[in-house]
Amino acid sequence: MDCLFCRIIDGEVASHKVYEDEHAYAFLDIYPTSRGHTVVLPKKHIASFLEMNEEKTAELFTSVNRIAKKVIGVTGAPGVNIGINNGLVAGQTVPHVHVHIIPRYENDGGGSMHTIVDSNPDREELEQLAASIYSRF
Ligand code: 5GP
Ligand code: ZN
Repeated sequence: MDCLFCRIIDGEVASHKVYEDEHAYAFLDIYPTSRGHTVVLPKKHIASFLEMNEEKTAELFTSVNRIAKKVIGVTGAPGVNIGINNGLVAGQTVPHVHVHIIPRYENDGGGSMHTIVDSNPDREELEQLAASIYSRF
């Protein structure tokens, strides 16, 4: 399989590695949104976060938590956005699951996740939606 991030993990493509363990691998984003922008990925190729089971998810986010603390420690950033662009419409450009750690700085000009898209549902719609999701568990 020709996957850029698999090739980075295998050492065929260079990266600025910041962390590696049995399950996860992390490096600096080559086009950083902010100083310290890091991506964390499962070593085993998987395209979508929605295909991951709970065990794999726990492993990945345990690493994300550890790495984020170190990135913040080094950069001194007073805030951070942590998230996944999952799927083409969400802006995923590399089809190997990865979690972005984006340190945020005072007056950096960026927005929050609320600025990604906008919607204005009424209370009834929210109630129906919540009930539908709740009922699936
Ligand atoms: P996505 O857009 O899929 O959420 O995130 C992919 C990220 O990978 C982007 O932020 C992009 O800058 C980064 N990226 C793309 N190619 C490379 C590369 O060759 N090396 C590194 N370190 N990052 C890359
Ligand atoms: Zn891959």
